[in-house]
Formats: sequence, structure tokens, C-alpha cells
Amino acid sequence: MRADVVIVGGGPAGCFAGEALAKEGFDVVIAEEHGEVGNPSCCTGIIGISGLRELGIKPGRWALGKLRRAIFYPPSNKPIELTRGRVEALVVDRVAFDRDLARRAVDAGATLLPKSRCVDLKLGREPRVKLKGINEVEFKARLVVGADGSASTIARKAGLLKVARYLKCAQMETFAELRSDTVELYFGNSLAPGFFAWLTPAGEFCRAGLGTCRGGALRKLRSFVEAHPVASRKIKQGKMLTFSTGLIPEPLSRKICTDRVMLVGDAAGHVKPLTGGGIYIGLSCARLAVEAAAAALDGEPTVKTLRAYERAVARKFGREFELEIRARRIFERIPDGGLNSIFGLLAMEDVREFVLKHADFDHHSKLIQAFIGEGPKLLRSLGLKRVLKYLHYLKP
Ligand SMILES: Cc1cc2nc3c(=O)[nH]c(=O)nc-3n(C[C@H](O)[C@H](O)[C@H](O)COP(=O)(O)OP(=O)(O)OC[C@H]3O[C@@H](n4cnc5c(N)ncnc54)[C@H](O)[C@@H]3O)c2cc1C
Repeated sequence: MRADVVIVGGGPAGCFAGEALAKEGFDVVIAEEHGEVGNPSCCTGIIGISGLRELGIKPGRWALGKLRRAIFYPPSNKPIELTRGRVEALVVDRVAFDRDLARRAVDAGATLLPKSRCVDLKLGREPRVKLKGINEVEFKARLVVGADGSASTIARKAGLLKVARYLKCAQMETFAELRSDTVELYFGNSLAPGFFAWLTPAGEFCRAGLGTCRGGALRKLRSFVEAHPVASRKIKQGKMLTFSTGLIPEPLSRKICTDRVMLVGDAAGHVKPLTGGGIYIGLSCARLAVEAAAAALDGEPTVKTLRAYERAVARKFGREFELEIRARRIFERIPDGGLNSIFGLLAMEDVREFVLKHADFDHHSKLIQAFIGEGPKLLRSLGLKRVLKYLHYLKP
């Protein structure tokens, strides 16, 4: 069998790229290992409103709720609430969201093959993708797109993934007493080392999740849900509906193209390092991949022509990735006392105003850059003694 483009993975990045490539007139096949697009899902489904707008995705029936507010719980459990009073993000039903993107890809002319797991990729002038499942076939393609998630088979077979860093995550759907427009984030070094735990309303349910760079996410999530002094009181105990685990990759930990192969979405490591959100960035970069692929497929899609994708991602998100990764490395080292002090700053009116002025849901580097530029002046205005206490945590 032949196709211009074989996309491995029918998640959001694969289907979004599939739709755009089919609209460019290419013969596109999307191979998905599961019988149903979107299932199983391990995602909280929070997507920024401005990101959706930029991607041209209009909210559909998959939108479960609107988020206007975040409450941060540092280890001291003294809550800090931040809101600009406007809707910042939607919480989506990921299964329905993924299916909507798959429907759009099929409407545009792509062929979707469910229950078709890619088990091998042979590189060459005409790369060959071997599928197993209900479609046991080998496809010859002009271009292969790996959209097969964080543990991407395509990335490994194409030699693009050497040593990658991941965050381990676990999530459950359950019931809890939460405000319908508020996401809650919980921090602490024994609770969720290097990351955080969260509670989000999702329609009539609650999604409780946790990411960690050390130890098992599953065990830590259970103890968060059952024993955290604040969260466990909000969650209705013994009412877990679904449970899942997943990995969040780190950007810049892999190459994203080689001769006749490109990676998109989590397979390419395209997520926000500070929060792990990958839907907006993954799709935004998938669009850049399609632009580069469409131009490259005019001739031979070699690494030389496909590098336009690498350059476009570096232009749009390179600085974002670098600054966020640096900020996360610093965050990973801060002890609980330091987290309490730093979050304590948010209780100060001037700092809150500064954060609310510069925070951008999909581009955390804007706040980091503003802090690098204007932070020292702001901190000086708050009194030197007070500031010195916090600064040693920020040394690289
Ligand atoms: C706990 C958790 C919570 C998260 N919450 C959020 C959030 O709130 N907001 C946000 O923006 N992001 C969130 N993310 C990240 C988000 O889920 C991912 O960034 C996003 O799903 C990436 O989309 P993708 O299409 O690249 O990959 P995926 O969604 O992983 O899709 C990959 C697809 O490829 C298929 N596949 C894999 N291997 C093969 C193979 N060999 N052959 C065929 N098919 C294959 C899989 O079945 C899957 O359908 C979260 C992640 C985790 C782990």
C-alpha cells in the first residue's frame, strides 16, 4: 500500500496535522493503535481560550466548563487566589475533543485506520511503516509523521529519541466539592517533587492529578486524594470513576525531523515545561510541521528541506522552551520553606498586580521575561531585607 503521508497516532496532533495535509491535497493515512480515537485518555483537558482561537478551533460539545480562577496551595496550605475575572481556559472532554479532530481530518479526505498499531519503521528513499491489528499491512510513504505520543515508536525507530526526560503523572476522575470555574494547584516536595498536584472541575466530575519527577505518581496521587489536609476534605472518598497514568515529555530532549520523518505533538516533546500542557503547543507546532512538509513534498522531503520545521518551531517557541525549562530546574530545587516564601509574595498587592499583568496562559516565558526585566525594581520597592530572603533560590 502507498500514501503520500503516513501519520502514526490518531491523537490531537496527528489528526490536526492529518486534516491540514489532506486539505493541501496529499493522500494521508492516519494509523491509530486503539479501536476508538481518544480512548484511553490521560489528560485533564485544560486548554487556553486564546490558544484555541489561534488554532481556529471553535468550542464544541466537548467543552465541559470554563476556568476563570486559580487557587495555589503552597506547602503551608495558605491559599492564594489569582483571577482576572475573565475566562482563561476551557476544560474539555478529551475523548470527544479528539474525535472531533479525527472527524475533521476524515472530512478533509484523510483515511483513518483504527486498531492499527505501528510496530516497525524502515527508513530509506521510501520509508515503510508496518502496521499490526485489524489492518496488517505495510505502507510505503513519501513522508512519515510520528504523532504517537511521548513514548513514540517512530521517534525511537528513526533515531530521533536518545535519552529523554519525562515527568510521571497519574490522574483520576472522581467527585469533589469545587467551584465550577476554579482550578486548584497544590505544591510540596514530598507531595509532588518537581511539579504539583491539581483538582479541576470537569462538568459534574472532578479530575484529580499529580506529576512528579521522583517516585511513583500513582502512589503519590492516592496519598494526595486520601490524606492531603485540604484536598482530601473536598474530594468524596471512595468514589473514583477512572484512573490513568501518563508521561509528560520535556521539550528539546529529542530531534524533531530527519530524512522523510517528522515528529509532532508529545512525540516531538512539544509541551509547556512548567505545566505539562501540550495541546495548544503540540497543535501549533503541528501546523508549522504541515507548512514545512507541504513545501518539502514538492520535491524530496529530506532533512535539509524538513529543517524549515525545526527553524519555525525554534522561532515561535525556542525561547519559551528554554526559559521555562530553566525556571523548572530552579523550581525543582526549592525546598518547602522557599515555596512558602515565594508563594507568600503573591499575597502582596504589587506582586499580584505584576503577575496578573504579565501572565499569559500559553506563554509562561512572558511572565519570566517580565520578572527578569522589571522584577528587581519591583522587589527593591518591597524592601531589601524582605527580598534577600528569596533571592538565593533563584541562582542558576
Ligand atoms: C495527567 C496528564 C494531564 C494532562 N493535562 C493536560 C491539560 O490539561 N492540558 C493540556 O494542554 N495538556 C495536558 N496534558 C498533555 C496532553 O495530554 C498531551 O500533550 C497531548 O495529548 C498530546 O497530544 P498528541 O496527539 O501529541 O499525543 P497523544 O494524545 O498521546 O496521542 C498519541 C496517539 O498515538 C497513538 N499511538 C501511540 N503509539 C502508537 C503506535 N505505535 N501505533 C499507532 N498509534 C499509536 C495513541 O493511541 C494515541 O491515540 C496532560 C498530560 C497528562 C499525562
